[in-house]
Amino acid sequence: MTLLADPSTPGVPRTYSTVDPRDGSPIDSYPVADDAAVAATVAAAREAAGWWADQGFAARKRLLLRWKSAIANEASALAEVISRETGKSASDAMLEVMLTLTHLDWAAKNAHDVLKRRKVHAGLMNYNQKASLGYEPYGVVGVIGPWNYPFYTPMGSISYALAAGNAVVFKPSELTPGTAVWIADRFAKAVGRPVLQALTGDGGTGAALVRAGVDKVAFTGSTRTAKKVMALCAESLTPLVAECGGKDALIVAADADLDAAADFVVFGSMGNAGQTCVGVERVYVDRVVSEKLIAKVVERAQRVRVGGEKPTYGPMTLPSQTAVIAAHVDDALAKGGRAVLGGPESVGDRYVEPVILLDVPEDSDAVRHETFGPTVVINTVGSVDEAVRLANATEYGLGAAVFTKDAATGRRAAKQLKAGVVTINSVLGFAGIPALPFGGVKGSGFGRIHGADGLREFSTPKSVAHQTGKAALNLLTVERSEKDDHMVAKLLPMLHGRAK
Ligand code: NDP
Repeated sequence: MTLLADPSTPGVPRTYSTVDPRDGSPIDSYPVADDAAVAATVAAAREAAGWWADQGFAARKRLLLRWKSAIANEASALAEVISRETGKSASDAMLEVMLTLTHLDWAAKNAHDVLKRRKVHAGLMNYNQKASLGYEPYGVVGVIGPWNYPFYTPMGSISYALAAGNAVVFKPSELTPGTAVWIADRFAKAVGRPVLQALTGDGGTGAALVRAGVDKVAFTGSTRTAKKVMALCAESLTPLVAECGGKDALIVAADADLDAAADFVVFGSMGNAGQTCVGVERVYVDRVVSEKLIAKVVERAQRVRVGGEKPTYGPMTLPSQTAVIAAHVDDALAKGGRAVLGGPESVGDRYVEPVILLDVPEDSDAVRHETFGPTVVINTVGSVDEAVRLANATEYGLGAAVFTKDAATGRRAAKQLKAGVVTINSVLGFAGIPALPFGGVKGSGFGRIHGADGLREFSTPKSVAHQTGKAALNLLTVERSEKDDHMVAKLLPMLHGRAK
């Protein structure tokens, strides 16, 4: 972040400038929201939240779809903003817009069915009560997002939080404020109230948002920052959904379609320059087919175009990430791994050429920690079971993939893999299926965005028990009779005495 104003100048808001990572050219400058600005934004959101909740499902759906159509009609303009801030290709940015709107559409159209008040059985002993369950919005949700998919990722929280009836204050990564301001601006035009607002700034702005009395925090970013955010949430017992990093493994069984597997290894590990939370970072391939698979992966990776006119992928968005990638490659080679394509020389100042590492020890950084670059480790195993064991031996648990022609093998691996989402014969196949909840286990976080669970994540269940008549057996009284106690003693074995 480049600060443009002296932070100590009284009365002058701090600003910072963003740059296009492709060539370092300046894009724009944005305010760094301080505690007072954060408090004012959350106060405006609190007022708007009441109005938004009162609109009900039908009106919210209409307004959200109006916003969706405004974004769709200017999709190329948004894709251009995303491209400039992240350095990703126009094609990747457009795909991001399309996938995101699929989720917004689903959330808007399904919120009523998922969250509406419904009757639940009160049970035999409570025949005199009508019981119902409904889901109510929290109020104001603070969304903190990363830079790698600056539209798709935070919108996984924003769309579902809004559809559930909450107001949202969105603090984007300091690298991608323009995307956040763009979508909040289109929202303001479509809805006319500050139900969704963007707050630009740095990590301090994110921390101030968590402390500003929001009713729930939806954080997406690294596991390291999630721990800091969780500690802040603990101060006020503010609930948190945490979508964090990953170290996803892709398993290739002996019977797999190797061409399809190789395509997905390259797409999953090198697409978006490897800057994907559910990107492929490790491959475990059955030794019977490992040579063939490696040849196919190398052949495809050699066709990857880095930067230039029609790139497969662009520069690293976060300049300091190149140091992490270089350290992981060095460590893998020092510990006995081999580079079959690229090597330390592939890591440039901003651009990183594909690196394929083989036989990398399981205790090396390139196997244990998130690399977040266009590199992949391919290790050989004796069976799918061994692959699953190694895939699970990580502190992360976001996504995993298995390639096999045998449906039963795929299902068994999917059950055994400790991850929030498993794909069989694809990677990222779930991203455009809005009904599927998304999130991780272990160090990859907790809670879910997307799908019905995503709508419920941003709602609080409200139970209502309505007594409509007198109970035959009145137990809810301080004047319980001996006859009633006797009846309870007789009923208990009848109701619960059998073990089935
Ligand atoms: P960071 O953890 O660095 O930052 C995430 C967000 O938190 C940014 O907006 C950042 O602001 C903000 N932040 C930083 N410090 C604090 C703080 N103390 N309190 C509150 N907020 C703070 O992640 P990146 O932006 O570098 O994103 C990459 C990471 O995100 C990877 O680990 C990736 O795997 C993960 N990710 C996970 C996804 C998932 O769905 N599971 C999806 C996409 C990415 P600022 O940028 O201004 O410092």
